[in-house]
Amino acid sequence: MSTFYITTPIYYVNAEPHLGTAYSTIAADVLARYHRLKGDDVFFLTGVDEHGENIQTLAAEKGISEQDLCDQMAPTFTKLWNKLNLSNDIFLRTTSEFHKRGAIKFLSALHEAGDIYKDKYKGYYCRRCESFYTNRELGDNKNCPVHKLPTEWVEEENYFFALSKYQDRLLAHIRANPEFIQPESRRNEILNVVESGLRDVSISRGSVSWGIPLPFDQTHVIYVWIEALCNYITALGYADDGEKYRKYWPADIHMMGKDITRFHAIIWPAMLMAIDLPLPKQIFAHGFLTNQGEKISKTKGNVIDIDALIGEFGLDAFRYFFMREFSFGNDGDYAHERFVLRYNADLANDLGNLLSRTLGLVAKNFGAVPEPTTPGEFDDEVKEMARETINKVDALMNQRSLDMALETIWELVRRVNRYIQQTQVWSLAKSEETKGRMGTILYNCMEALRTVAVLISPFMPDTANRIRQHIGLDESDQGLDTVAQWGGLPAGKTIGRAQPLFPRKDLKKVVEQLESAPEAKAEKPQAKTTDNLISMSEFQGMDLRVAEVLSAERIPKADRLLKLQVDLGSEKRQVVAGIAEHYAPEDLVGKQVILVANLEPAKIRGIESQGMVLAAAGKKELALATFEKEMPPGTQVR
Ligand SMILES: [Zn+2]
Repeated sequence: MSTFYITTPIYYVNAEPHLGTAYSTIAADVLARYHRLKGDDVFFLTGVDEHGENIQTLAAEKGISEQDLCDQMAPTFTKLWNKLNLSNDIFLRTTSEFHKRGAIKFLSALHEAGDIYKDKYKGYYCRRCESFYTNRELGDNKNCPVHKLPTEWVEEENYFFALSKYQDRLLAHIRANPEFIQPESRRNEILNVVESGLRDVSISRGSVSWGIPLPFDQTHVIYVWIEALCNYITALGYADDGEKYRKYWPADIHMMGKDITRFHAIIWPAMLMAIDLPLPKQIFAHGFLTNQGEKISKTKGNVIDIDALIGEFGLDAFRYFFMREFSFGNDGDYAHERFVLRYNADLANDLGNLLSRTLGLVAKNFGAVPEPTTPGEFDDEVKEMARETINKVDALMNQRSLDMALETIWELVRRVNRYIQQTQVWSLAKSEETKGRMGTILYNCMEALRTVAVLISPFMPDTANRIRQHIGLDESDQGLDTVAQWGGLPAGKTIGRAQPLFPRKDLKKVVEQLESAPEAKAEKPQAKTTDNLISMSEFQGMDLRVAEVLSAERIPKADRLLKLQVDLGSEKRQVVAGIAEHYAPEDLVGKQVILVANLEPAKIRGIESQGMVLAAAGKKELALATFEKEMPPGTQVR
């Protein structure tokens, strides 16, 4: 039995899942289900990425531990994946022990291979991306190309992986294996990057604590991106050289959105080369969806509400639409109108009508699946097309042309609808003489529906089952091999009329309704960008006080942080401040600073911080706000 190992990226838990992550994961689910249909031994991995500076910062902002934050966020993914009827075999969390052990083993192997060295890193860094950018990537304003926000100049000691050493081997591999990176546009992009020269990449962070410590230097954690890539083998039990690892690696396909192709198509394979592990067979990066021409974002308030769409159209129609409407691999532009039109044309008309017309005539004239006794015109054409459809779909699924695979299935659906027209099957009920022919035509329609049900089952699992029930089959035994031969549907089984699978939708009504869905409005920006005023009472809600620094000390493993004890007159407070790169602890004692005294306490690196000191923070410089003359500690600042 062939194996098929498919992965999605592990999604970062700093935000809840959205349409983009759902799109990747549904596509992977479709391929996983298709290969199960073929009889392959499939392993389908998805999961979440839980380490790194963003999680550390977010947890500190919320005043909870990083683990608590991850424990709150991970279920938002599993909940949505259940709703989307995904068939993943594992949901990996990077805070799990088997992943940590696997990542440590992987980094140790890289270290032993001699491809890791320590060096000082200098560069422009985006904390949100947790990535360094080159001048070329940044442009003149030095803003992050993803976030369009200023990057910081960062210099730190990091460990590096000798990526440049693998440039030639990588190039040779990409050139020799056209399927390795797909689609073609992404392949060309990666080829350009590799041809123009690779720089070594940093694989550790000394300034971050929320991560997996480097096995050969516990004062650093593994850089979250490097650690995340390891998940594709740790999930299989790489740490213990487990049975799954030996069985499924290398992956048949890593599925992802196009923004993260470089990590997967350059760094990951080079690291695998360094420790002599086989490379994944394919990196496939799909495009991005926009909403009526605009980038989808929470601040724009144009997030596509998954719940509202599933509520309106049903889950299978949702899965169908996103897999069919957009050319898989390219960008696509969403609009409610497109959904309604596609739904009415393909699902209500083409497929829905075929089922209801066929079953209506069978129920009325035969009551059971008729015997195919009387061959006639067009029969062979329909049969042959059904066979061809199976082969064409297989080729298209192998090319990851998911939308074209569906189109090919629908060509068959439309052909069978035409067969009903051409043969005027409804008119054959008049005499006993023609009834044999009528039964044969209807049998062929049902047999075509049986084929269609099997072929659409990876995309629309519930609909496939409903069609099967309607034509008198049970849910079991529906592999691709069951439709290899025409005529597998047993005659004689009692048939009732079909309930409509996809009732028609009124375009105008549905669009209006969806536009008033809560999520479509929820996150509109509150005029903050142009008019960022607060009221006097909002300002008075802040309790600012004169605080005198009693002592200051460095925090181990946190280069930027100092722990301060401050005197507030009536009480003493402990505060963690990110000023260690600008102030020596001994210079702070006796200084008077401004403390935000009623800030929610937070744990930073496990250390309680009861307030915040104010400072002017530029890109490189930082200065604490202080007073022109000495004031009694605790005095209110207004
Ligand atoms: Zn960024």
